[in-house]
Amino acid sequence: MRDGPVRIALKFVARVFFTIDLRSTRVIRRMRGEKPHRLTGVCQLCAACCERPMIQTTIWTYRFRTLRVLFLAWHRHVNGFELVEEHPRLNAFSFRCTHFDMKTRRCDSYGSRPGMCRDYPRALLWESDPPFLKGCGYRAVSPNAEKVVRLLEKENLPPEKLEELKGKLHLRE
Ligand code: SF4
Ligand code: SF4
Repeated sequence: MRDGPVRIALKFVARVFFTIDLRSTRVIRRMRGEKPHRLTGVCQLCAACCERPMIQTTIWTYRFRTLRVLFLAWHRHVNGFELVEEHPRLNAFSFRCTHFDMKTRRCDSYGSRPGMCRDYPRALLWESDPPFLKGCGYRAVSPNAEKVVRLLEKENLPPEKLEELKGKLHLRE
């Protein structure tokens, strides 16, 4: 169901806080010396990322009943995300997005989509092995790709082995 004015306003405010939190968290992580992968490629507009959006949360939100209920209620009633699966090891939830039309593969409220949809797949770049969806037109490139490729090339590996390692280690530009 398309967002009405109240949901649009609520989502706008939430997006402002989400963006401030996201940017400051990433600045702090960089200051601590963490280096994310680099994003390359282009979006193929396949909408695979809308089929089963997943949100990783804090252990507190995942474990504490009140926080969990509030978190899920917000996503259900404001973002239109219905819970379909829990991932205890990741403190994460998977949802069905009620704004996604499976037939047309379109978002009915694209202009008011949440911050996480706008940010996707950048959050994955901070993982050691970014789990991009199959068929996604984006790729992650390791921050040390050039250096590692130069080192591997000195090892005189068979070409197929070199290519395999480049794929596994996110070394392809
Ligand atoms: S709100 Fe729109 S962009 Fe976000 S997951 Fe749902 S359909 Fe996709
Ligand atoms: S899965 Fe990747 S290519 Fe497909 S719509 Fe999402 S970001 Fe674009």
